[in-house]
Amino acid sequence: MQHFFVEPSQIQGNRIRITGTDVNHIRNVLRMHSGEEISVSNGTDGRDYRCEIDTITEDEVLCRLMFIKEDGVELPVRITLFQGLPKADKMELIIQKAVELGAAEIVPVATARCVVKLDDKKAKSKVERWQGISEAAAKQSKRAVVPQVCAPMSMKEALNYASEMAMAAIPYELAEGMQATDRFVEDVCRLASQKAGEERPQIGIFIGPEGGFTEEEIELAQEKEVCPLSLGKRILRTETAGLAILSVLMYHLEERG
Ligand code: SAM
Repeated sequence: MQHFFVEPSQIQGNRIRITGTDVNHIRNVLRMHSGEEISVSNGTDGRDYRCEIDTITEDEVLCRLMFIKEDGVELPVRITLFQGLPKADKMELIIQKAVELGAAEIVPVATARCVVKLDDKKAKSKVERWQGISEAAAKQSKRAVVPQVCAPMSMKEALNYASEMAMAAIPYELAEGMQATDRFVEDVCRLASQKAGEERPQIGIFIGPEGGFTEEEIELAQEKEVCPLSLGKRILRTETAGLAILSVLMYHLEERG
């Protein structure tokens, strides 16, 4: 079933109005007609609005709401990926895969060993491009929300943000053994079940750039109760590590209803 995102204001009662480039897509690319069903999200409430196309005009598609699927596709916790700014265009791949795996937010972090330096102007245009990647991946994977790509933060700012979250971890290749990893995953799953039916809790995951984290950064993280953990005995690339821990969390958190 085709999936579209609208602004919350475009959902009024049982009427849903699609505008913009999606109109041309529905009319001329998909060649859809009245009576056909589509699914719509407003990108924020995690709900899946199933509707039937009513009328298609040049510049809007009017739909009739049939029902709302509450237990949509979102994970029971909101995962924020704090990603050390990687080289070249790796960030685009990381964002695309993180969105497919259920991340709710991506924060680029300018850590001590980041080779890439973004001034405000460059950062603004990069974040716009990355947000577009997130939206495209959210559409393709039929997410109910469009994960936000935030403006780059310093490590200190990122750790302060993470300290407001329910839990956070920092995968670190020098962390000993898998006990901390097991404990973290168990704690996240316990948190998810404790908060079922309430506002989804937020957790953070920190991934370093190609050069990794400095010892000072790891110490700072521990002071903020962001726990270092191992992702195994091999050294993963920065573009692999976040996806590895997201895959583990997704597997354990996925609804098995
Ligand atoms: N210091 C690494 C080295 O010796 O090559 C480089 C860092 S690694 C390319 C990038 C990031 O991936 C690390 O900062 C860490 O967050 C994560 N990472 C990679 N392998 C890991 C592992 N085995 N356990 C935990 N985290 C890992």
